[in-house]
Amino acid sequence: MADTADIAAVQELIGHYEPAGVARVAPADVVTAEWVRMKCRFGCGGYGRCLTCPPYSPTPRQTRRLLDDYATAYLIWWGADHPSRGDLAEIERQTFLAGWYKALMLASGPCGLCDPCPLEHPCRYPYQARPAMEACGIDVYETAHRAGFPLRVVTCREDTPNFYSLLLVE
Ligand code: SF4
Repeated sequence: MADTADIAAVQELIGHYEPAGVARVAPADVVTAEWVRMKCRFGCGGYGRCLTCPPYSPTPRQTRRLLDDYATAYLIWWGADHPSRGDLAEIERQTFLAGWYKALMLASGPCGLCDPCPLEHPCRYPYQARPAMEACGIDVYETAHRAGFPLRVVTCREDTPNFYSLLLVE
């Protein structure tokens, strides 16, 4: 495992992308729930259309076990705009190179690197494609609220959305 100075470098790296906020959270406070998967399956037009989305992405139960493998997570609040999948993967890569070999980034929304996703293995951009938190069964609303960040239902196109990413580190 890397030392405290290295993790400060990771926080600095995240800062280069100008997030609205970053919170160091215990993985136990990252909430997973079966209802999240059901909302993907029934009511989302993206279901089954991307290798990073259900049914291809981890189930809530698998994600719970994954989270329990980690000591720390960084919840990154991006506000209305979020970096590209490539930028998020770069944060993960730099964290890995800093010595945090278990570094894993979860993004938000469908992948979108190919249009449409060919739904064939291998993925065309494996170094950039990462599943979204919600695609892994994470209750992003409750997780954001526990960290003191805002997230509410967007009710119209004029509403300002809030995007989040999660960097798992140990
Ligand atoms: S990079 Fe392309 S092939 Fe891979 S998940 Fe994203 S859209 Fe699909």
